[in-house]
Amino acid sequence: MKKSEYAKYLQSNHWQSLRKEVLKHTSSCERCRLPRWLASVAYDQDLNVHHTSYANLGNEDWMDLQVLCRYCHEIETFGRTDLRPVKSARCEMCGEIHYDVYAKLCRTCERVFNPPSLYELLESGTADDPIIFYALDGICLILRKHGVKADGINRYVTKQFEKLDKEASEAATTEVPF
Ligand SMILES: [Zn+2]
Ligand SMILES: [Zn+2]
Repeated sequence: MKKSEYAKYLQSNHWQSLRKEVLKHTSSCERCRLPRWLASVAYDQDLNVHHTSYANLGNEDWMDLQVLCRYCHEIETFGRTDLRPVKSARCEMCGEIHYDVYAKLCRTCERVFNPPSLYELLESGTADDPIIFYALDGICLILRKHGVKADGINRYVTKQFEKLDKEASEAATTEVPF
């Protein structure tokens, strides 16, 4: 396919709606994990949907596509970029890249190891979040059974998070027989 044809394809309704659909399911760059909102602020462009294969053009499989920020997309396409990368930090707990450079932990670890206080949990109003829901459940149980003070409840919640984390890592290392 010629360059001009490809440029025309990128304007087509098919590609534009596929692109939007893919972005709806992605919240960050698949390479550097830059969140979508930060990508559009830093690089003045929404996350790009990149073709890793052109074999199925017009009838793409999602495996043919990769969501990249403008920075990573330029590196991928041209091998270089004039853009400056957004400052990042590594989580001291899990080693993942994150972009809140003043935080020691990524958001996941922050929630697992420094769970919010009872007050914050109740204020956050996101009880549909399974983790928060689980924590709230534990809090209610403790409240009903013992009437423990906030400190004790927080310790209980922390233990629950640790247990969940342990179960998750055990499940991850257990081989599934086929
Ligand atoms: Zn990126
Ligand atoms: Zn982490």
